[in-house]
Amino acid sequence: MVELSIVIPAYNESKNVTILYRKITDVLKTLKKSYEIIYVDDGSRDGTYEELKEIKDKHVKVIRFRRNFGQTAALDAGFKESKGDVVITLDSDLQNDPADIPRLLEKIDEGFDIVAGWRYDRKDTFSKRFISKGAKFLRKVLLNDKLPDSGCTLRAYRKECLEGLNLYGEMHRFIHVILRMKGFRTAVIKVKHHSRVYGKTKYNMSRTFKSILDMFLLKFWMKYSARPIHLFGGVGLITSFVGFLILLYLAYVRLVQGTGIANRPALLLSILLMVIGIQFLIFGLMADILTKIYYTDKENYNIKSIEA
Ligand code: UDP
Ligand code: MG
Repeated sequence: MVELSIVIPAYNESKNVTILYRKITDVLKTLKKSYEIIYVDDGSRDGTYEELKEIKDKHVKVIRFRRNFGQTAALDAGFKESKGDVVITLDSDLQNDPADIPRLLEKIDEGFDIVAGWRYDRKDTFSKRFISKGAKFLRKVLLNDKLPDSGCTLRAYRKECLEGLNLYGEMHRFIHVILRMKGFRTAVIKVKHHSRVYGKTKYNMSRTFKSILDMFLLKFWMKYSARPIHLFGGVGLITSFVGFLILLYLAYVRLVQGTGIANRPALLLSILLMVIGIQFLIFGLMADILTKIYYTDKENYNIKSIEA
């Protein structure tokens, strides 16, 4: 039985991991809880793994990836390895402060399932903060997500949240959204943030575009994952209906007014709309069959408890 698991993704952070280990251990010792620290070395090439191997402590476990698979994969592997009742994640670059861990735990004790850190005084470049503001706006509009900071890795999760959670791509920024879909509740607390001293940031502009695409995917998943036919079938019905109306009008022109319609662009348009509409309908059917297959070994609901 372990009470706390700390999961830390690390990619080329050789100068940081040992300092972080000491800081975390200092904080955890004051808590008087049993704990484990799981470092996930995400294919580092700067000696991070060797640094980690130097840490002689039975609380520390190191998962080593064969190559760089990304932060999401690293967190996923860490989650699957963790045994604690509460799992805490944080960055290995010393930008998050382990001193905030006790406050995260206090909120968990209040009954929340996820406690997310908010880097209210964020020590990052202007461009990073600017992009985050845009992303925050989109998150709110598309996903109705009001979390002030989705990029902060410093978080605490109750173990139940992470069961059956499979993360892929760069979904780590939206774990709270996925969990909200399952009905888990998130609290936010302000946390400290420091500038990066050693090593370099691993992200650039491309993450913005990836995040936007991920948001669309999540939006779709939230609304239609159980019934994709409602989305695709809906679009298909409307398109083919519009095509049908145009065709009806053309039939009237040809049959009642007796005017030729072969040279009317509207004829082409109506046929096109009807064909596209039927395509959408068929696509919706296929997508529905696919989700049926997807859900054969999972539920699309989440039970909190069953009592008699
Ligand atoms: N990270 C990782 N794999 C990657 C990229 C990043 O494990 O492919 C880790 C990295 O070592 C750090 C955390 O994820 O602990 C956040 O990365 P970074 O500090 O570069 O992001 P930023 O703070 O600049 O947003
Ligand atoms: Mg960082």
